[in-house]
Amino acid sequence: MITENIATIRTRVAAACGRAGRAPDSVRVICVSKGRSAAETARAVAAGLYDLGENRVREASLKYGELGSASTGVRWHFIGHLQTNKAAEAVRIFDLIHSVDSTRLAGEINTRAGKIGKIQEVLIEVNVSGEQTKYGVPPGAMTDDLIEYIDGLKHLRLRGLMTMAPAASDPGAARPYFRKLREMLVSVNSRRLDREPLRALSMGMSDDFETAIEEGATMVRLGRAIFGG
Ligand SMILES: *Cc1c(COP(=O)(O)O)cnc(C)c1O
Repeated sequence: MITENIATIRTRVAAACGRAGRAPDSVRVICVSKGRSAAETARAVAAGLYDLGENRVREASLKYGELGSASTGVRWHFIGHLQTNKAAEAVRIFDLIHSVDSTRLAGEINTRAGKIGKIQEVLIEVNVSGEQTKYGVPPGAMTDDLIEYIDGLKHLRLRGLMTMAPAASDPGAARPYFRKLREMLVSVNSRRLDREPLRALSMGMSDDFETAIEEGATMVRLGRAIFGG
């Protein structure tokens, strides 16, 4: 089941890349393993998905013990809301934290990464839709300020932006939010010429990943499309 789902996803990713004139390997599928057992997660890894997304530090920590780290080829992505008191543990486990949304959190991650001699790669989560229920920084000045702040931290490296589109029955409804995030990335890069350009756009989930790819996603975060449910 998991193996077939992954094969279907690969076909759909390739087709969306084709429509957008992009190379299929320009999109990384992140297997969102939150709430799934280590055994289920291991099946997805065995089927070739080496990027795992978790939204709880404690749960990830247990699976990390069973499934391993970069040394086994697995890369860990934190995609949930990170509390500052979990930053130390998060820095120990995760290769990429997708959800930095405040200077306070960025500062805490920087301190914790410094303590273990790590440069932590991060994305900024942007609340493009402005929904009250969503985490993330509002687009505009607040995002710009956070980027500048992170650029000044020695143990953080900013790689790009992440967003979640509002839940909708029509996958096309997410398009304007994905497009906006991509435009933000382009605009940030045009004003940040002394830095390596930001390339990562983490956007698109099981219901809307093809739209996200058409709009430039470099990482799609898929849970239900892989595991069902
Ligand atoms: C759960 C989750 C996903 C995966 O959602 P599916 O609809 O199961 O693909 C992606 N991103 C974030 C931030 C999530 O919390």
